[in-house]
Amino acid sequence: MITVREIPASRALSKSGLPELDYSLNPYLGCLHACRYCFAVDMTSDKDARENWGHSVVVRSNIVEVLRREISRMPRGIVGMSTITDPYQAVEGRYRLSRESLAVLLQNGFRVTIQTKSPLVRRDADILSSHRSTCDVGMTLTSLSGDKSAVIEPGAPSPASRVRALEELSSEKIRTWIFYGPIIRGFNDDRETAESIMEIAVSTGSRVIFDRFSPYRTAMIMMRESGFPVESLRSGMSWWKSVSGMIGEEALRKSVRINSQNEEYMNTSMSGQSRLF
Ligand code: SF4
Repeated sequence: MITVREIPASRALSKSGLPELDYSLNPYLGCLHACRYCFAVDMTSDKDARENWGHSVVVRSNIVEVLRREISRMPRGIVGMSTITDPYQAVEGRYRLSRESLAVLLQNGFRVTIQTKSPLVRRDADILSSHRSTCDVGMTLTSLSGDKSAVIEPGAPSPASRVRALEELSSEKIRTWIFYGPIIRGFNDDRETAESIMEIAVSTGSRVIFDRFSPYRTAMIMMRESGFPVESLRSGMSWWKSVSGMIGEEALRKSVRINSQNEEYMNTSMSGQSRLF
């Protein structure tokens, strides 16, 4: 059963702990995509959303009004939308808080970087295409296999629908990128997956950012419940070095720009590039 609750937000923009972002904006708490590897569970303040991950979502119903008030006194910067939820999960179809927040931010001189697994983001192509130089859209692709995706992100739209969304946004000349991750040992760390993702990057003109699974407490529990052995989740640096090298080779072969979130293994030809703008 899905639970949706509305609460008032006291703040809209939060200072981001991520180096490439100034602020984060999360219109929802909890996420119906229900990813088994989700690090955001341990960062979500709402108890019910945390304890019923993937089945309970909180709508911060007045966030657009709060945002309009807040931005008059805030320095302009880069806003990540979203950092602990998917801004285009199914409830956004009804509440449109991400759409309205996006419009407010872009119309007021902020830059916005979106990360999602949902083709619903295409709905907002009108806003995005009016602010092409100050926004981008990242689509997460853990695997191109619908069967694999169903195991680790059971509530998320299919990989094929995400690829179609990327293609459509790209055809509108909206800047796009792909997040390839989290990469899990023995699951999606193979050359065929990396090669397919690079091909999509080429056809959509997207940059690729990749990262491995992070062993957050609740994510570890959920992944083990889904049948992943500890050794595939706590894989060592030699494995990651080898996988990063393989991804770097595939990227070079296809002239795709990449960034690793672990800079130590960044493709040296790409080092120093921001994922944004
Ligand atoms: S889409 Fe993101 S926030 Fe939502 S469950 Fe998956 S990893 Fe977590």
